[in-house]
Amino acid sequence: MPPERTRPYVGRFAPSPTGPLHFGSLVAAAASWLDARAAGGRWHVRIEDLDRARERPGAADTILRQLEALGLVWDGAVVRQSERLERYRAALAQLQACGAAYWCGCTRREIGDSALAPEGASVYPGTCRAGLAAGRKPRAVRVRTAAEPIAFVDRVQGAFAESVERAVGDFVVYRADGVFAYQLAVVVDDAAQGVTDVVRGADLLDSTARQIHLQRLLELPRPRYLHVPVAVDAAGRKLAKRTGAPAAGADDLRAALAFLGHAPPRDVGDRELLEWARRTWNPQAIPRARALSATAAAR
Ligand code: GLU
Repeated sequence: MPPERTRPYVGRFAPSPTGPLHFGSLVAAAASWLDARAAGGRWHVRIEDLDRARERPGAADTILRQLEALGLVWDGAVVRQSERLERYRAALAQLQACGAAYWCGCTRREIGDSALAPEGASVYPGTCRAGLAAGRKPRAVRVRTAAEPIAFVDRVQGAFAESVERAVGDFVVYRADGVFAYQLAVVVDDAAQGVTDVVRGADLLDSTARQIHLQRLLELPRPRYLHVPVAVDAAGRKLAKRTGAPAAGADDLRAALAFLGHAPPRDVGDRELLEWARRTWNPQAIPRARALSATAAAR
């Protein structure tokens, strides 16, 4: 289904609880909040806590407190993915029932993990596509992909097209460690929550074609996408949640707005920052770049 424009705006912020909000995740949170509020829309927070091994205890609550302190108030109850396994199980069963997904017995070492494949990661060669070879144990579930490119227009980054088959190949929707893959969960939840607009960091631009592929297979509506530049350090590395300083003050918000091409004039007080940005919000002012130095744009 093409992106829907007729439904009332629903946005979301979907942090993984791997650490407190830092400058980079604050940029994503602020952008999605502003885009939703400027459109008079609703804004949800969803804690993506499926990967318990990567979770840091207390991080989810810290993130929520930081959002509150910044004035990034959400609507409705906070959703936690760890409480929604039934929905992912049903979606997985649906994919398997129609033959769109299959069990794979390959080990990580044999093919590399394509679940969240960074650029340059190995492409799944389709080893188990036609069924598991004798003696192989089922490990993960993969979804079939096609060569023809999936195209969409990002509201900031512009036209994008990717052949998922060529970029990553049949990708994992249920991991060998028993965890539902991010790609599956995000698609199920965005649809269940009625999300019309996904606003997030451009490190996830490469995941979007995979998500559209799953939306098609599961017959779910496609949201519109807006990917903001990822904040990188002077050496060009993404600011990591684990190492970046927690961001929860007005100075951080000011810097995040500047990073998004909305530098507040000096006479806008700390308490008025969000309201000023909501009134002046213009996605076309967001730099059209996948990555941007946090230090250059900010202080
Ligand atoms: N949970 C993901 C992250 O923190 C974001 C998912 C999304 O916005 O689609 O990187």
